[in-house]
Amino acid sequence: MRDSNCIFCKIAAGEIPSKTIYEDQEFRVMLDISPATRGHALIIPKEHYADLYEMPNNIVAQAMVLAKKMASHMTKVLQCDGFNIVQNNGEAAGQTVFHFHMHLIPRYVKDGNQEKLSWNHLDLPENELDEIYQKLKL
Ligand code: 5GP
Ligand code: ZN
Repeated sequence: MRDSNCIFCKIAAGEIPSKTIYEDQEFRVMLDISPATRGHALIIPKEHYADLYEMPNNIVAQAMVLAKKMASHMTKVLQCDGFNIVQNNGEAAGQTVFHFHMHLIPRYVKDGNQEKLSWNHLDLPENELDEIYQKLKL
């Protein structure tokens, strides 16, 4: 299934060119057009899923295995010092392209992103923390 208005569907199908560093039947891995660091790449499934919630479990599992394979390869080739795997769901979380993707972000000491790829910490009182805990435990 694909979405005719989706840019990543067009890239996945090869209709829009991309710097593809890996491809198989299910996925394409390409360099991000506006990279956070040198080597920043995206894993996209060839089928259209807007986000993680829509993805079938077997594709989710395959995506994570592929992320590990690519992270190992990229770390070796780029000699980076660390690695972030980021996956945004929903506008509030920073998602701008609504076709599932995983960011593969090689990190380098002093790459200028130390602040951006972290977050502020809430100082939650124990009762609020516990309320959240009670709601969430499965
Ligand atoms: P999001 O903010 O949705 O998690 O990430 C979307 C990412 O897609 C951004 O990092 C952006 O630079 C990248 N991107 C947007 N359009 C294109 C494109 O046409 N080609 C490639 N290779 N990356 C894109
Ligand atoms: Zn799509």
